[in-house]
Amino acid sequence: MQHRKLIWQIFPSNILITFLAMLAVTWYGSISLHDFYMDEMETGLKARALLISERVNELLSQKSIDSLRSFCIKAGRESSTRITVIDISGKVLADSNEDPDSMDYHDNRVEVQQALQGKTGTSLRYSRTLGENMLYVAIALRPLAGSDSALDLLPPVAILRTSVPVTSIDRILHDGQIKIAMGAIPVIVIAALITFFVSRRISMPLERMRHTAQLFSGGDFSQKMSDKLGMSSSREVVALAGAMDHMAVQLNERIKTINEQRNELETVFSSMIEAVIAIDTDWKIVSINKAAAKIFSVDAQQTQGKILHEVVRNIDLQRQIEEILTTGQPNEEELVLHNGEEERLLRIHGVQLLDSRGTGMGVLLVVNDVTHLRRLENVRRDFVANVSHELKTPVTSIRGYVETLLDGALDDREDALHFLGIVLNQTNRLTAIIDDLLSLSRLEEKVDENEILLTMNKLKPALQEVVQSCQFKADEKNIKLFLSCPDSLQLPMNVILLEQAVTNLVINAIKYSDKGTEVSILVEEVDDDGGQVIISVVDHGAGIARQHLPRLFERFYRSDKARSRKLGGTGLGLSIVKHIAQAHGGDVEVQSEVSKGTSFFIRLPLQETVGEKTV
Ligand code: ADP
Repeated sequence: MQHRKLIWQIFPSNILITFLAMLAVTWYGSISLHDFYMDEMETGLKARALLISERVNELLSQKSIDSLRSFCIKAGRESSTRITVIDISGKVLADSNEDPDSMDYHDNRVEVQQALQGKTGTSLRYSRTLGENMLYVAIALRPLAGSDSALDLLPPVAILRTSVPVTSIDRILHDGQIKIAMGAIPVIVIAALITFFVSRRISMPLERMRHTAQLFSGGDFSQKMSDKLGMSSSREVVALAGAMDHMAVQLNERIKTINEQRNELETVFSSMIEAVIAIDTDWKIVSINKAAAKIFSVDAQQTQGKILHEVVRNIDLQRQIEEILTTGQPNEEELVLHNGEEERLLRIHGVQLLDSRGTGMGVLLVVNDVTHLRRLENVRRDFVANVSHELKTPVTSIRGYVETLLDGALDDREDALHFLGIVLNQTNRLTAIIDDLLSLSRLEEKVDENEILLTMNKLKPALQEVVQSCQFKADEKNIKLFLSCPDSLQLPMNVILLEQAVTNLVINAIKYSDKGTEVSILVEEVDDDGGQVIISVVDHGAGIARQHLPRLFERFYRSDKARSRKLGGTGLGLSIVKHIAQAHGGDVEVQSEVSKGTSFFIRLPLQETVGEKTV
């Protein structure tokens, strides 16, 4: 419904009231004036009738009709009054304006009948004889003889009627009405102006209050309603504005408190490491924090208000939520989330959200990505199994040969020498595994304790040392070792560890390369991340199949188990390389193509990483 402005509610009704009041005054004034004039005229007519009644009575008693008629005409002309004398049968005896003989009997005229009954007859009506509205007054004429009191008792001898046209009164009244109406116009105009100003005085402060209230609703509480009201505002409006200002102050404080609390909660919520999602009973996402958005690879802001299925499609998750919604009981599930090619293992704690009355209003999910944890657990489990297996193989072999020797093979010198050779080999293998395991665990320990000492050293001499120590192995397979490194290149390093890492790579390269090929150690400087050094060890050997590359740096992982064992590998070499690179604040990568060769890249920072390593 369209509401009208206050001014348009007050203004027209006031004008209408003024107009109706003026109309009522005009109407009442006209009626009063009319009645007044009629009374005056009636009195005048009666006085005139009484004035001439004696003379008429006299002429009647003389039966001098002609004299009566002449008297009536003369008196009528002089007094501007129509004078009629009627006998008691109703016959007109004389008339000042008309020929009495041509007039009909007047016994049925109201005023005549009233006069015959002894009253003063009056009547206002249209005269067909004269063709206009007339006021008639009639009195009874009684015989002249006798005393005055007895006279009234005698029957009337005739009726004397005086009359005047009332057209003049109507004209006077009409003029009066026009004058009143003319007077009413300025009154109405003045009333309209006053109403307009009064309405504006009422509506203006309300209008200003409305504007300030709009600012309040928009969150702007800097203005005060009371300041906007003029001095002329009514006490009620000032009191209302005061109450609204008070309410605004309280509202402002409450909003501030709520905002502060909300911000605190949001900060806590978004900085939580645990991923948290809250949904309502319609499965709409009420809130989702950054961690959750990251796990589900969505935008936290865009997902707000969306249905959960639209964001995360996982039947197990839906089942878990349904269970909470129906039973109201908290639960904990582990489920696999497929995100493209990536697979993630999530542990989800779900709990029902309750309002202050204890009614369920949704579900809160706390999600932990346990993919990494599980992978670590698997790696550790594999590690224990691998260590056992790796140690068991040479130990079983040694035991077998020692038993064979004890069973008599010792007597055959040739066999005994052969078996003891195998036992020595297996013992060396055991020692190699234990050495590698020990150096790995020492390395891990030192990294954990931040005890790896890095000093600024030139790289080339360290690499030359590596080439020298591997030269013998290379020569065995007629492999050429090639080194390219800037002479002056320095970086923070632990010389012994770095030499060990590069040696492991070069030995592998020699091991898995064909005779007569070349193994290169190349060093280049790059500008990434404040300057880095990349040491590449490149061979043209057997290469490694693609599927092995992601797990190559795990302990005991071998791409070609049989070959590795045959070549005396422990499966720990690359793992050691990885740890050494990390101890320097760097990392290691591999690129390989089967039958074409393999390249390992140790990436080390040129500056020491502050706070992580000691120099
Ligand atoms: P291992 O002692 O068996 O060499 P590593 O940890 O040094 O153990 O290497 C892990 C596995 O990676 C090896 O068993 C081998 O299969 C593969 N590998 C390492 N380096 C090379 C290389 N240069 N060429 C081909 N395969 C390699």
